[in-house]
Amino acid sequence: MIDTHCHLTDRRFDEDRERVLDRARHAGVTHFIEIAYAPGILPRAQAFAAEHPAVFLCPGVHPSESAKVPLSWIETLRAEARHPRVVALGETGLDFYRDYAPRADQERWFRAQLGLADELGLPVVIHQRSALAETFAILEELRPQAGGVLHCFDDGPEAVERARALGFRLGIGGCLTYGHGPLEEAVKVAPAGMLVLETDSPWLEPEPRSLRRNEPGLLTRVLLRLCELRGWTPEEADRITTANAKDLFRLPIVPAGGGS
Ligand SMILES: [Zn+2]
Repeated sequence: MIDTHCHLTDRRFDEDRERVLDRARHAGVTHFIEIAYAPGILPRAQAFAAEHPAVFLCPGVHPSESAKVPLSWIETLRAEARHPRVVALGETGLDFYRDYAPRADQERWFRAQLGLADELGLPVVIHQRSALAETFAILEELRPQAGGVLHCFDDGPEAVERARALGFRLGIGGCLTYGHGPLEEAVKVAPAGMLVLETDSPWLEPEPRSLRRNEPGLLTRVLLRLCELRGWTPEEADRITTANAKDLFRLPIVPAGGGS
């Protein structure tokens, strides 16, 4: 499996980061996309990736960070995004759930990152919360050429159809185990090629939420729920979602047995 969205440089992993990676490997998670969503996180993420060949990078400015980061930082992002381990930009988008940042700042950074993604030929990782209509409106206006993923997807079949029309994938994580009806329906009807797995570690632990922290090794809980909904075996679910992730992020991964 590939965890297409995690934050393993988060402080909550400072005590046991290597053990977390060991548990992930034992659970069958071979690669990780580390989301460096603010300028202050990027150096840590780059150092982490330098130590771990199985870690890819996705640098960007999270909507909640957008008021703190001057738009001129896009020059740094452009330069850093040329690093060979960078596979996408983000997470970017709109978050109207809480007022972390004025909407104008969020939209400015969202549009800037979509433009940069097209310039660099990279897909985008989209974060949206309580802003689905506004997020789709901008994506449908700018139509990112290399596609992307609606991270932490938690919506219904209509959103699947709009994402499909954009050539986007759906990031399926812990939410799938929370009993959300529209999401379960969406995952049943979505084309198999749209589904990629993610944890958003350390957030969104899949049920049973007993550890109070998510980690990539818990992706098996999501995989098994996906199997129940799709009627897939774990091997099928792994093969399909891994192929989708490799395709979207154009991951330079050698077939089983090689790599990290
Ligand atoms: Zn995230």
